[in-house]
Amino acid sequence: MTDQTQRWIAQDKAHVWHPFTQQADWCAEVHFPIVLERGEGVWLFDTEGRRYLDGNSSIWTNIHGHGHPAINAAIRAQLKKVAHTSFLGTTHPLACELAERLTQLLPGSPLSRVFYSDNGSTALECAFKMELQYRELIGEPERDTFIVFENAYHGDTLGASSLGGVARFTSAARKRGFKSHVVSSLVDLTGIDTTTIAATVIEPLVQGVNEMHMWPAGMLRNLRQWCDDHGIHLILDEVMTGFGRTGRMFACQHEDVVPDYLCLAKGLTGGYSPLAATMVAKKIYEAFLGSPDRTFYYGHSYTAHPLGCAAALANLDLFDSEQTLANVSERSAQLSAGLRQLEANHSSIVTTRQIGLIAAITIDPGQLPMLDLIELCRENGLLTRPILNSLVILPPLCIRSEEIVFLLEILDRSLAELSLRS
Ligand SMILES: *Cc1c(COP(=O)(O)O)cnc(C)c1O
Repeated sequence: MTDQTQRWIAQDKAHVWHPFTQQADWCAEVHFPIVLERGEGVWLFDTEGRRYLDGNSSIWTNIHGHGHPAINAAIRAQLKKVAHTSFLGTTHPLACELAERLTQLLPGSPLSRVFYSDNGSTALECAFKMELQYRELIGEPERDTFIVFENAYHGDTLGASSLGGVARFTSAARKRGFKSHVVSSLVDLTGIDTTTIAATVIEPLVQGVNEMHMWPAGMLRNLRQWCDDHGIHLILDEVMTGFGRTGRMFACQHEDVVPDYLCLAKGLTGGYSPLAATMVAKKIYEAFLGSPDRTFYYGHSYTAHPLGCAAALANLDLFDSEQTLANVSERSAQLSAGLRQLEANHSSIVTTRQIGLIAAITIDPGQLPMLDLIELCRENGLLTRPILNSLVILPPLCIRSEEIVFLLEILDRSLAELSLRS
């Protein structure tokens, strides 16, 4: 290891606190974190010159690859003008253009307003606060409870995590946050006192943090119908599924569902910059019009950050010029065939799940320790993160055929090597 890499690691271990990380393990002498410094397409390079395939799209954000010339150029062009201006009391060209472009992605839908914020958690936080204020404004303050799905994940701010069902993250937040009613499937909706429910929030088609749990086909459409029948709004958390990840631009399009709130973040900028959007139905927006007390009092210093908006516009352009959704369709078929082959080759695999370029491989922990598998994949050049007993594969959507082959080969080799050891 170079002296410089050692210095960075020493600085990190002395002063940094990492997310979702047991710092005692992180700072242990035997632990040498990878220090990433460069990216190109689906590849990341560390300070030792080693190359890794970015198997989780840098925590589910990257779409068209790292260092894409078009996105880099868009950010540079904006930077030449100004890096950041306030969105309180002024506007800027790219935020105007981006809002229009986002609404055009759902033609004819009532989602005609875009509220910008910084990340997935705040995109959801905005929707929740808007919804509660909306109910106050229209004289239905008794509708103050959210229906949430067991093991959902909606982010880490207090409000968002109070409506996330992953108990190991949220048990403390639950007690302090929004009022909720937890269900595990549509069956649980029968018998609920619907007059106290404001909205239902769900990750459509697939619950990311819940080991990529897939909802049954038709579930989302039925949920939309149930919400409509009871005057309940539908908040879709497409922070992970948005922007082509499932094969359509948005997951809700698989079931022709239009929500009342659509929360977007991760892929919005192609994975280049923190920016989020809460798209809101016209009817909800209109309830906020009028006297000052009807204002939505919410905002962040970096709301609608111009560099993020520049990246987001370039990201959307690339979906057309690079035929991204067509690539997702071809590569996901290839990945799916590869997963079936892996299942046939390795008895340590309990099951696999996949939609678009989202896949999870559940391993029998009795046969193979997950952390050893992840470590071996890294040594072989594939970077990803597990969730409990599932290895998650979520590559950038620009991944090429030969890169899928490489990814599958590493998985195959690592599973084989490890089963020989144990
Ligand atoms: C990542 C994620 C969030 C939170 O987004 P952050 O940008 O990490 O705050 C919310 N919902 C889902 C489905 C996510 O995958």
